[in-house]
Amino acid sequence: MFKLPVIIIGCGIGGLTMALSLAKHKIPSIALEQAPQIRETGAGIQLCPNVFKMFDHLEILEEMKKIAIFPDNLVYVDGISGKKFLTVSLKDELIKRFKYPYGVFHREDLLKKLAEICKYYPQIEVHTSSKVSEISEFKDHVEVITEDGRSFKGSVVIGADGLWSVARNFVAGNELPHFSHHVAYRGVVSLNNLATHLKPNDVVHWVRDNSHLVHYPIGVQGLLNIVAIIQTEKNYAFDDITGNREELNKRFEGSQGPILELLEHVNPDRKWLLFDRNPIKQWYKGRAVLIGDSAHPTLPYLTQGAGMAIEDAVILAQRLVDYEGNYEIAFREYQEERYLRTGFVQLMSRIFGAAHHSSGIARELRDEWVAMKSKDEIYDWLAKMYQGIEVNKKMVSHV
Ligand SMILES: Cc1cc2nc3c(=O)[nH]c(=O)nc-3n(C[C@H](O)[C@H](O)[C@H](O)COP(=O)(O)OP(=O)(O)OC[C@H]3O[C@@H](n4cnc5c(N)ncnc54)[C@H](O)[C@@H]3O)c2cc1C
Repeated sequence: MFKLPVIIIGCGIGGLTMALSLAKHKIPSIALEQAPQIRETGAGIQLCPNVFKMFDHLEILEEMKKIAIFPDNLVYVDGISGKKFLTVSLKDELIKRFKYPYGVFHREDLLKKLAEICKYYPQIEVHTSSKVSEISEFKDHVEVITEDGRSFKGSVVIGADGLWSVARNFVAGNELPHFSHHVAYRGVVSLNNLATHLKPNDVVHWVRDNSHLVHYPIGVQGLLNIVAIIQTEKNYAFDDITGNREELNKRFEGSQGPILELLEHVNPDRKWLLFDRNPIKQWYKGRAVLIGDSAHPTLPYLTQGAGMAIEDAVILAQRLVDYEGNYEIAFREYQEERYLRTGFVQLMSRIFGAAHHSSGIARELRDEWVAMKSKDEIYDWLAKMYQGIEVNKKMVSHV
């Protein structure tokens, strides 16, 4: 279809799924990763039914199920009153409604599995220690240059290089990401070291004023993933990763017992600043196109960031095939199909983040309002994301 391979910048969840999606159509790619190894930072990740639908499409559903944990419920508890105000089944009822499960993974297991599957495909060439610093477009190809001066030629280039994307600079300009003033702290602990009341097979959100804590079991190794997120007024340098133990503890002062017990397992010395961007409509320019966080970085509150990257990869590969390598039409179709869905995730995640951290009367009203919702109302709302997307669609004529 193309004379030259597709160049993919970045081998995170999006980049590897992109390589895999292209390889399924026998399209060769060169995937360039800046890190010396294919690795993920952070521990847990939740993937919703719409993502398992994509795994099914890629014929890797069973492989992925083997490394997933399937929690029983999604639970919300008010961290100040200790009142459970929402429980949503993630098992039988959810699978009956959405056809696919809700699974949680150790990020490392997920990325390793994707990398392992990519190795089966001779069409995929992965280069680590390859930080792309420049993209140039020519009449019939693109060229990317790495920081150490190597050059790679391709038919098109796909930016899967995350929040601080160089590809995005090329496609849409270099407006900086937006700091949400939310700061995450993470911890993992062996389930063997925890009392039973601290390790239900659930995804539990303890939400309070200006902070919340989430935990769920992950990994075939039997771990509990804990993420504590606080809101701060401070402005940090974008690459500041030093934790502020005092601020973390202060935000959780007076919490219900289990929160404080779990907080002891969170590393207070390392913080993650949470950034996102406003949705944009311009995802491609010439022979360059964006997927995943490079196109639509989001806050984590809808647990769909990686899910959107995976959907992007599947759809983009399919549209390139549908339009027989006419990349301009394929990119346009892909962008038109994707920007509202991913824009919804970006904007709704901000609203969810604010709702998680409500204080005073707003917090009490939130608990009461959510508790009044029936199971069907909750599932109806989730359906917008969980139902997933159609990969094969009626072709639009562009003649
Ligand atoms: C606290 C937190 C919790 C989250 N929880 C969830 C969740 O439960 N479910 C969910 O679906 N999503 C979740 N997300 C979002 C999810 O992690 C991201 O949306 C997802 O990882 C994006 O994947 P990506 O491949 O687009 O980008 P990334 O994962 O950022 O990968 C980009 C890759 O590109 C490489 N790279 C960057 N620049 C260059 C360059 N110049 N040259 C070469 N390589 C380069 C990077 O090293 C990296 O490997 C969460 C995010 C956070 C912060």
